[in-house]
Amino acid sequence: MANVRQMLSQFHLAPHKRWGQNFLSDENIARKIIEYCRLEPDDYVVEIGPGLGALTPILAGRCQQLLAIEIDRGMEMPLREALKGTPNAQLLFADVLTVDIESQIKAAFQLDELPSFKVCGNIPYNITSPIIFSLLESCPRLSRAVLMIQKEVAERLRAKPGSKDYGLLTLSVRYHCDVEYLTTVSKHCFYPRPEVESAVVSLTPIAGKRVKVADEAKLFDFMRACFQKRRKTMLNNCSRFFFRNKEEVALILDREGIALEARPENLLLEQYVRIVESFAVQGVAD
Ligand code: SAH
Repeated sequence: MANVRQMLSQFHLAPHKRWGQNFLSDENIARKIIEYCRLEPDDYVVEIGPGLGALTPILAGRCQQLLAIEIDRGMEMPLREALKGTPNAQLLFADVLTVDIESQIKAAFQLDELPSFKVCGNIPYNITSPIIFSLLESCPRLSRAVLMIQKEVAERLRAKPGSKDYGLLTLSVRYHCDVEYLTTVSKHCFYPRPEVESAVVSLTPIAGKRVKVADEAKLFDFMRACFQKRRKTMLNNCSRFFFRNKEEVALILDREGIALEARPENLLLEQYVRIVESFAVQGVAD
């Protein structure tokens, strides 16, 4: 892997902070990330934020077709240079949050049917959550995403009930997929060096979702409301959200085996679902 600083000066580039440009400068980590993707030769892969191409040519060498989506036109020359000799890679200069990723794969590779695909990327940390939710909510054909993100966010993704990191992000991601924390990456592996440590995680969408819920929007509204009042008991949170008096709420929580003094961070996703369904059955949830 060419030295990041040398490449930047060769192409007269300076890293843009607003695009979260912290380029990976450690080839071993690059290879490790790609191993975690578990690529097969017939895989379609999307890379988010290829930058100078730390991962891009290696990814292209391991899959059938690669579509790399980069917002910064300035990266075009170094990327084209890095991708000489890998005709199966295509570049798309666009904002990954506004393009329809699945249509772009079809268009790029002239496919009538969209195959399942994988995503890989050392992504811009300032838009980690929007990227994750856009993948989970708008890409039904996604089979696996391996992402390098801020370690702190990775901790929230894998948090267990009762911990300070457990929250709306944990539950929302858990709703869609299995999360695996793969490895921690030191800030010394990047140029410029970020202020925070990083981690590589994989997200594997669950076919048919983990839980069935009649009113998904209500579930998410309820969870959001609870975590906005994280220090309040579930008794108070339910009473406020469902407009029910505490005696009625206590009956429902008791029936679900949830302690009245439990806090939002103590409940599993499945318990949130059961609470929302119980109030809905009573016809009072609105
Ligand atoms: N993968 C490269 C670069 C990581 S830095 C490496 O590991 O070295 C993050 C990259 O994401 C930068 O290249 C940045 O320009 C790009 N990026 C930032 N916002 C983006 C967006 N909305 N859509 C696509 N790419 C984006």
